[in-house]
Amino acid sequence: MTTDELRRLFLDYFRERGHTVVPSASLVPEGDPTLLFNVAGMVQFKQFYASKGEIPFTRAASVQKCLRATDLEEVGRTIKHHTFFEMLGNFSFGDYFKREAVEWAWDFLTDVVGIPAERLVVSVHVDDEESAGIWRETAGIGEERSYRRGDEGNFWGPAGASGPCGPCSEVHDDFGPEAGCGRVECDPACDCGRYIEVWNLVFPQFYQDTDGERRPLERRGVDTGMGLERLAMICQGADTLFATDVFRPIVGFIKDEVDFGDRGEADEVGVRVIADHARALCFAISEGALPSNEGRGYVIRRILRRAVVRALNLGVDKPFLYKVAGRVIDVMRDAYPELDEKREQIAIVIKSDEERFQGTLERGMNILSEALDEIVRGGGGEVPGETVFKLYDTYGFPVEITRELASSAGVSIRAWGSNGSR
Ligand SMILES: [Zn+2]
Repeated sequence: MTTDELRRLFLDYFRERGHTVVPSASLVPEGDPTLLFNVAGMVQFKQFYASKGEIPFTRAASVQKCLRATDLEEVGRTIKHHTFFEMLGNFSFGDYFKREAVEWAWDFLTDVVGIPAERLVVSVHVDDEESAGIWRETAGIGEERSYRRGDEGNFWGPAGASGPCGPCSEVHDDFGPEAGCGRVECDPACDCGRYIEVWNLVFPQFYQDTDGERRPLERRGVDTGMGLERLAMICQGADTLFATDVFRPIVGFIKDEVDFGDRGEADEVGVRVIADHARALCFAISEGALPSNEGRGYVIRRILRRAVVRALNLGVDKPFLYKVAGRVIDVMRDAYPELDEKREQIAIVIKSDEERFQGTLERGMNILSEALDEIVRGGGGEVPGETVFKLYDTYGFPVEITRELASSAGVSIRAWGSNGSR
């Protein structure tokens, strides 16, 4: 099943069950300064849960454009991390609650898209006997495939500084003991790679204010989120996100362009980072988010620079990312025609920032390579804090990029202080 088919099947499934299919809200949130980018399908609906008045519908389904830049260093190194992704979601605002949410999720995963039931396990909030009971009755999932967790794992929200929140129940795909750490206590909370979260069913019950106070929600309901790319990975039997039908053409294009040949894993990571980041840049720039030195723009600039550094590392010293962006648009334009409409603008923004940074990045890369060579020749150690700072301050190297490049050479870095995370 292709990603396009999965997207359509999901919306059809919930449309047939009385849901209004609502277009994705913008990736760059309007009127919510607490959020740099949209991170979940429910963001555009969050006022519905707290509404005492009329709302246009009580059931909705959407495919939301999302961008999360919190785990940038993991992108490309794991099978499951990415920045831009599409989130499938069904929502109830004072309409159905846990039973339908669980029944439909199970039916969709096992019957509609055909994931073998025995591969799926669930997690349930420790106090949520009701959901545990529904999983048992609906899916035949007993204690041995149901994991109970507290607020740290199975309580969601709010998205941003305030909003609806509540306990949740997650469905995970189990790749089997041989894929994991092998510990007896390994469970879906373990990040060894055995389990991957597929679908999170949130049951909003509270509204959390900016000061952290919670009150009962006017319309308790359902808010679910399932990463389309992850679902595609599982349905296509792909071993990483980057081997799915949406990423393969982009990865292939990059490899052709850099004459990849039979290079090793470190360079594979570089290719995946470029593929992922080019997608994020296309979507963000198509909505008018531009690289700059603060806030949202800084996130864009950081993503762009990370990709340019990776390209340089693969031997590309000319503007290149804008061409990858063109390939991204070719792959995504049927579902997102707005990318095609902004094709030229996206290319111009990326190319001009690439050109601006390429020269300084190249000098920075030489400095880092020399420092690493010296450390490796000297039998080990770490990149000194002043070098890390100079790379950041003068040459525009995000600290995590310095760390990633150093760690490929088996060397760690010394941060230079509280500002180190930037
Ligand atoms: Zn484990």
